[in-house]
Amino acid sequence: MAHSSHPAGNASENDVFDLEGDTLQEECGVFGILQHKDAAALTALGLHALQHRGQEAAGIVTYDGQRFHSERRMGLVGDHYTDPQMLEKLPGDVAVGHNRYSTTGEVALRNVQPLFAELSVGGIAVAHNGNFTNALKLRREIIAKGAICQSTSDSEVVLHLIAQSKQQGSAARFVEAISHMEGGYALIAMTRTKLMGARDPFGIRPLVLGDLDGAPILASETCALDIIGAKFVRDIENGEVIVCEKQEDGTVKITSSKPFAPKPERVCLFEYVYFARPDSIVAGRSVYNVRKAMGRNLAREAQVEGDLVVPVPDGGTPAAIGYAQESGIPFELGIIRNHYVGRTFIEPSQQIRAFGVKLKHSANRGQLDGKRVILVDDSVVRGTTSTKIVQLVRDAGAREVHLVVASPKITHSDYYGIDTPDPEKLLANQYTDHDEMCKFIGCDSLQFLSVDGLYDAVGGAPRDPKNPQFTDHYFTGEYPTRLVDLEAENGPLKQQSLLREAG
Ligand code: AMP
Repeated sequence: MAHSSHPAGNASENDVFDLEGDTLQEECGVFGILQHKDAAALTALGLHALQHRGQEAAGIVTYDGQRFHSERRMGLVGDHYTDPQMLEKLPGDVAVGHNRYSTTGEVALRNVQPLFAELSVGGIAVAHNGNFTNALKLRREIIAKGAICQSTSDSEVVLHLIAQSKQQGSAARFVEAISHMEGGYALIAMTRTKLMGARDPFGIRPLVLGDLDGAPILASETCALDIIGAKFVRDIENGEVIVCEKQEDGTVKITSSKPFAPKPERVCLFEYVYFARPDSIVAGRSVYNVRKAMGRNLAREAQVEGDLVVPVPDGGTPAAIGYAQESGIPFELGIIRNHYVGRTFIEPSQQIRAFGVKLKHSANRGQLDGKRVILVDDSVVRGTTSTKIVQLVRDAGAREVHLVVASPKITHSDYYGIDTPDPEKLLANQYTDHDEMCKFIGCDSLQFLSVDGLYDAVGGAPRDPKNPQFTDHYFTGEYPTRLVDLEAENGPLKQQSLLREAG
């Protein structure tokens, strides 16, 4: 019988199982491989390359022909999965892995993925990047029918729906389960013989298919393929479900279907702005080149006079290169980043987050003293980073500090797996007056890239409000899907008013 060493019981004793209260948002990276003798080690490497998508916890599940093995840990991939003894605990030629960054402060081990369950069709592990916008509603229904939820993760709903499905076989059950889900997701699942993947109907979250010596791989980004020398085969399309299945003759059969109502592809623009790694190719576009183009467009739009273009590293660096090239103003590393501190957002409270900015960035005084500095960052969310960095640059003697931001004003929260605070905590929501916002940040001038400038950088035509080419709700308020759970919580009026603000 298949067995799991799934450590669901390891959660801290103090954890409160508040199933109703969790808002269920996660940023994450996923990786899966079928039919490779080094499945766990390759998955660990893939997750390491995807570390930027989630730094709080990581997990790997494998199947060795007889048993499932599951190891899940809080912390970075490199903290746990480079240890040969750990990899010995994960034998087998099928593996799925997951990097997690919860956005809610709910960091218990019971939520660390991949989630695993023994079903009537055998064991199944699920790893999910994104956010289901109707997961709370579905979970309440499932619990009302008597199910026992072990985590507060929205992904667990998928496991329950697979378990409850009357379809024959795990692939058909996987499809049926996903057909109930709304939101933005890249989902992978593994059984004893299959690696399956699905991308939401709009393709909001990315998922790619790779190949290593005939072993199929599913991963959030191409950088996870590059690290192991795997070939990029193609993007999983929006609304596509892919099933890779071991055959008796030792080959792997790959089948693809589009079982859901067709929707236009609308990749999340925030993957290009901030989330994806610059060396990844997302939906056919080099993230690095897109970021440089954002900087070029920003330079055309901003027309600020200055002596130096200085990136807020690392996020602002490609855009600053583009800005400097376009404007002809010299590029200098006026801020040095300490790489041994996690991303700003990793600290769950505002107080520690503010402190974290100082830990992460220091001024390169010799470059900044007496200069008119054009500071380039990829985005302003709460304004914490910008405020601190502008002060840092001023304290280092800069004569003027002009902040140019390589994305539009973030006025709306994300509900598809990108960490954003509640709307009232977004700086561009708090300050509708541009000058007031500038004053709050403490800069001499402030400029954001226009929505059309961003569309152009990603290779699109100006935004067509009737048919936007990308998912861009954080800038426009136009959400591509229903927000079922949010509406249930806040009522439809609040959501309508969110939409009206965008107008
Ligand atoms: P804030 O300090 O709240 O304005 O956040 C903006 C800074 O955080 C920018 O420098 C971005 O590089 C970075 N950032 C933007 N979006 C996110 C996110 N979803 N998670 C973590 N960091 C982010």
